[in-house]
Amino acid sequence: MSYQVLARKWRPKSFSSLVGQDHVVQALSNALSQQRLHHAYLFTGTRGVGKTTLSRILAKSLNCATGITATPCGECDACRAIDIGRYVDYVEMDAASNRGIADMVSLLEQAIYAPSAGRFKVYMIDEVHMLTKEAFNAMLKTLEEPPAHVKFILATTDPQKVPVTILSRCLQFNLRQMASSTITAHLQDVLGQEQITFEAPALQLIARAANGSMRDALSLTDQAIAYGNQSVRETDVRSMLGAIDQSYLYELLRALIANDAPALLDIAQQMDSRSIGFESALKDLAALLHLLAIAQHNPQAIADDHPERRTLLELSSQLSAEMLQLYYQISILGHRDIGLAPDAYAGFTMTLLRMLAFKADAMAPTSAAPAGNAGSTENNARATSASGGARAALAQSRQAAAQNVQQEPASTTPVGLMETTISVTEAAVINQPVIESPQTEEPAPAQPVSNNEAETVNWDGNWRSLVENHLSKLGLVRALAQNCELVSYDADQMTLRIGDAHKHLASTNYLDKLNSALNNYFGRRIKLTIQVGQEANTPARQMAVEKAELQDQAKDAILSDHFVQGLMQEMGATIVPNSIKPLH
Ligand SMILES: [Zn+2]
Repeated sequence: MSYQVLARKWRPKSFSSLVGQDHVVQALSNALSQQRLHHAYLFTGTRGVGKTTLSRILAKSLNCATGITATPCGECDACRAIDIGRYVDYVEMDAASNRGIADMVSLLEQAIYAPSAGRFKVYMIDEVHMLTKEAFNAMLKTLEEPPAHVKFILATTDPQKVPVTILSRCLQFNLRQMASSTITAHLQDVLGQEQITFEAPALQLIARAANGSMRDALSLTDQAIAYGNQSVRETDVRSMLGAIDQSYLYELLRALIANDAPALLDIAQQMDSRSIGFESALKDLAALLHLLAIAQHNPQAIADDHPERRTLLELSSQLSAEMLQLYYQISILGHRDIGLAPDAYAGFTMTLLRMLAFKADAMAPTSAAPAGNAGSTENNARATSASGGARAALAQSRQAAAQNVQQEPASTTPVGLMETTISVTEAAVINQPVIESPQTEEPAPAQPVSNNEAETVNWDGNWRSLVENHLSKLGLVRALAQNCELVSYDADQMTLRIGDAHKHLASTNYLDKLNSALNNYFGRRIKLTIQVGQEANTPARQMAVEKAELQDQAKDAILSDHFVQGLMQEMGATIVPNSIKPLH
């Protein structure tokens, strides 16, 4: 039996099995039960949240042989045909590829005729915002006076680009991005039923990388199963996702806590040599600080099976609430301004050193002389003027926090407290240009960020090594690249092939990101073309095969070991299945 990808196999077939979209499901179910039907629905939401799935369930609800219902039977001809995508009166059209007036007109001409099998003709137009203006106008006429037997289901990731005249004639439902806990729970359920062993942190990592899209999460799980030889392990998933390993962020925070500038600069150097992007590092740092602040207020907010729970709690106990606020603010501003810095390395290290400048001040005794009443040496003067700014910011932020508590005794939510503190602190930071001055005399950062990679690269055509070494921090874009095979390339074009089972990874969004990563790597514009075809010798498949070979070798080595043979023969010992793991 051929393997069916999880996303297809586990595509929900009824409203009750659709997870994470309760608000939409409830509204639609009520409308169907009360026979309050609209002639056009618009589903909005990012990719992979269930727009097409919902559309198919709705089509079944409208055409099920048991009558118009919120619980289509799933067994009649109409339900079954819609499930496998072969129902004459349900048409799915992708506006991204059929966007012109001719396609729309021919669809609308068909719409006039009564349905041939069901109650309604249901037209699902995906990515409807891609239609041309003429096509929208053609559709508008039908939407204004729709034949009674026609239902439109429009779906889009970008409702802003749909004309208001169309929007106003649709019943609109906004599908949410799925919370990573919802995704994790669903993956657990699916893997349990598939009888595939998994480690909880591995699912957490997948859920986070999937970024709200259940379909992406299931694709990544498929890949993890192949890679991990029928089990989903944390280490495998980390390496599969390009090790979005954030340990360097923890190192940075430890160095900040220890007030250790040389260590900070050292870590920045290491990040540079591992080509970790400084801009995204600042964003990740802000996200981590946010998590630490949450952990400080409510340790329960960090899930028990969070892969880094212990580290997070440890770090949050070592930083005061005020320092967390300041570091957060500084990293946000550092991220905003990194484009203005001489280069990304300078922007990044200056941001870290700014945090240290505040830190030094926060630790200074409160009775220190106020700014202007400086000591005799130049150094003292410098330190004092800098810390004056920092202290003012800190004091203001403390005061703001205190005021906030006094003014609104009812509001005990930490969130409200945080928001006020942030805005005041931001003003303080922005208005204190002086805080950057001490760093001008710090030793200059040793190496500006290297732009060597942007030079034209003579490439040997080794797609796998390119993917492994240079597209390593791109999460799902990397998954896309791993599942592609190189077909051809020359100086300014590259053609890849992706297997049918993975073609959903090749969305415009990820293709654009892959293309720009390639442009970056080659230092010139590459025209990227992706063909969909037979699954072939992709890096993902090569890795899975190698892994399986290693596993076989490890098994052979164990089984041919004399000691093990002795144990098995003489003591009746058996080997626990899947307990053998290759040494890396
Ligand atoms: Zn049915």
